[in-house]
Amino acid sequence: MTAVLVINSGSSSFKYQLIEMDAEATLARGLVERIGADESRIVHEVMGDDGTATSHEQITQIHDHTAGFQAMLDAFAEHGPSLTEHPPVAVGHRVVHGGARFFEPTVVTNLVTINIQDLSELAPLHNPANVEGITAAQEAFGDVPHVAVFDTAFHQTLPPEAYTYALDAATAERYRVRKYGFHGTSHKFVSEEAARFLGRDNASLNQIVLHLGNGASMTAVRGGRSVDTSMGLTPLEGLVMGTRTGDIDPAVVFHLHRRADMGVAELDELFNSKSGIYGLSGLKDMRDLTEQANTGNEKARAALDVYVHRLKQYLGGYVFQLGRVDTIVFTAGIGENSAQVRAETLAGLENFGIRVDAARNEQRSRGIRVISADDSAVTVLVVPTNEELEIARQTLSAI
Ligand code: AMP
Repeated sequence: MTAVLVINSGSSSFKYQLIEMDAEATLARGLVERIGADESRIVHEVMGDDGTATSHEQITQIHDHTAGFQAMLDAFAEHGPSLTEHPPVAVGHRVVHGGARFFEPTVVTNLVTINIQDLSELAPLHNPANVEGITAAQEAFGDVPHVAVFDTAFHQTLPPEAYTYALDAATAERYRVRKYGFHGTSHKFVSEEAARFLGRDNASLNQIVLHLGNGASMTAVRGGRSVDTSMGLTPLEGLVMGTRTGDIDPAVVFHLHRRADMGVAELDELFNSKSGIYGLSGLKDMRDLTEQANTGNEKARAALDVYVHRLKQYLGGYVFQLGRVDTIVFTAGIGENSAQVRAETLAGLENFGIRVDAARNEQRSRGIRVISADDSAVTVLVVPTNEELEIARQTLSAI
């Protein structure tokens, strides 16, 4: 048996998953959160043979990521599965920003860590936390290779006309300003799963993938390669998100600075954390937003309209960029679960060969499914994403 441990580390928390790679089955997963606070929490879930999870929760004090990994090891020792019986052959780390430097999963060396740290200027909230996770995990698992899997890597195939902003070229080059794109691990995974599910050669397929979670992005995939994507230098660009604006006239920044005396930190917080559907409606969760929109809350309805309008705008753009579209794929929390968002996004597109079957769309299932009608020229799919499994696959391929 070959097991891989996957780590997704944030500044005050990390998630982990131990995956047995022959069957691609999760053996255990967990979350260590509120690291550094008075009451940290660790939740450790052990998967049974029948797919059910047994959850173990503990509140304790965890000072830093190193102590967090010790708490994780303790949870494995106490609740199983035994790491002696399932020793990970490698540890795979989700890293948000790989800049233009990292285009494939990379075995972590000191130089790689320095480079990831150096890319923090492009992802100040994420890369330092990823490095913290890598360093602590190396202390806990010193004998096995650690592999960095980058959120930006899948988008390294973007052509220059897609990744170049029409900004003064010297300034852009000096400060590494360009579109990088994110959620790449998910876009790669679901586009490959879609091709496999349809029994088609991915190299011959044109796909548009809608990753709609709290963060959201859309990618045009031609023959298995990302050719355009909605997120940019940072994960702020593009679609309307839970709390992020997505696209906005950059002059709004100048305007709010001049008129409202807002500084960089305040604007960053406003655009990233207080906007999006939350800023428009006061609601963060798509379940609440659709429920309120359907029961007469006009603000909620208006926010949903803005959300869907932006989706249609990008979708239309990518149809024209690709020229021919074979599949449209919905994934992540909203894409997988909100029949209403899927229906509204694709409503009225029959002239473009996109026809959703209402009953198929409403049906709930955990697996991959077709939601388009049999006579739809474009096949519309729901494909559950599994970024941890993709990270584990890439980790194994790198060692
Ligand atoms: P993610 O970031 O992929 O975990 O997705 C989180 C988002 O998925 C949240 O906005 C949730 O509201 C949304 N979500 C989860 N389940 C549902 C559901 N049944 N209907 C609508 N949205 C959902």
